[in-house]
Amino acid sequence: MRILIVLFIAFQLFEAGAQPVQVGLYQDQLVNSAVVYSSSGSFLLVAEGVVVSRLGEGDILYLTHEEGRVKVLDSERDFGYFQTIELRGISSECVFRVRPIQPEQESRMYDDNLIVKAEDRFMTLINEVDFDKYLAGVVESEAGPNADKEFYKAQSILCRTFAIKNLDRHKSEGFSLCDGTHCQAYKGKSVYNPEILEAILETSGMVLADYNYKLITAVYHSNSGGQTQRASDVWLTDTEYLQSVIDPYSLHQSNAKWRDTISFGDWKSYLLKNGMKSVIKIPDEIIYVEQMRRKKYFILDKDSIRMTKIREDWGFRSSFFDMFPDGDSILIWGKGYGHGIGMSQEGAMKMARDDFAYQDILQFYFHEVRLMDYRDLPASSLPLVKF
Ligand SMILES: [Zn+2]
Repeated sequence: MRILIVLFIAFQLFEAGAQPVQVGLYQDQLVNSAVVYSSSGSFLLVAEGVVVSRLGEGDILYLTHEEGRVKVLDSERDFGYFQTIELRGISSECVFRVRPIQPEQESRMYDDNLIVKAEDRFMTLINEVDFDKYLAGVVESEAGPNADKEFYKAQSILCRTFAIKNLDRHKSEGFSLCDGTHCQAYKGKSVYNPEILEAILETSGMVLADYNYKLITAVYHSNSGGQTQRASDVWLTDTEYLQSVIDPYSLHQSNAKWRDTISFGDWKSYLLKNGMKSVIKIPDEIIYVEQMRRKKYFILDKDSIRMTKIREDWGFRSSFFDMFPDGDSILIWGKGYGHGIGMSQEGAMKMARDDFAYQDILQFYFHEVRLMDYRDLPASSLPLVKF
């Protein structure tokens, strides 16, 4: 009986994975009105569960939030006010475009279906989209269209791992994931490079799990500067698979270096303000940060400040940098871009250009992880959500 129950749950999850995912759109805005265009294919307009119209290619729909409901118009008709409407694509190749008018936002193209729900003060726009097409949009938004396929495979596996691990993040808002960096950036359909969707289909279902068969925290950043950061140096939790690795592939890439200048006086008072009392008694020459290798802390005498705090407080591109005196100023020579944990995207792109396979890229940046199909994970490792 027990085995049967476990199998039944696993089967449910497998089925769930084959279903579309619901993504909240324009989530950093409160959208009050929008125009929707049918770009390709035909759609059914469904209001409160009833089909009220059909949209062909080029047809336009105007949506406005008024007194807690959505007012729906096309070029000829006023359909009235509704709590929920849906645009359901009637084939698998349906594409529509959304342009928020109030507030005005850039228009974006999406695959499959659109669901619009009226909230008290705004509308929630949800793209109900095939999971692989969603991932293609995420990979293009997060990595751009100009990389090699083995890189896209590695990036796809990380994006898929993150998405599945976080499927219940926005459950209370009525969708699975948002389209901002809070989840993963999703600026709509992948349009610039067909190899992205190919990479997703060729790695279908594959995720990274740790040795306890738990989905990993699938983190990545722009450029490590030559050495990735150990997760426990930034976050409180230690994760064995996120260790620091020496990363020559990130050197000489476009985000490998950065420069900045700050005033010596400002730096000195910053250190004092953050509890470094010894700044007053020690020579000025030694209050400079030096990092041949990444350090967790900047230490003076018995006091210390986390390098990640310095990065945050000064708005630096990374926490991996050296300081040099320059009159009343300090020159900052920095390495890398981003938090430095997990996969360096520019390093991984270079590895792909050097003919490394995606498995090699992932094994290089993540220690002792299992590359496997998420459908082979125990049910307890997956979020119990219905799409
Ligand atoms: Zn989110």
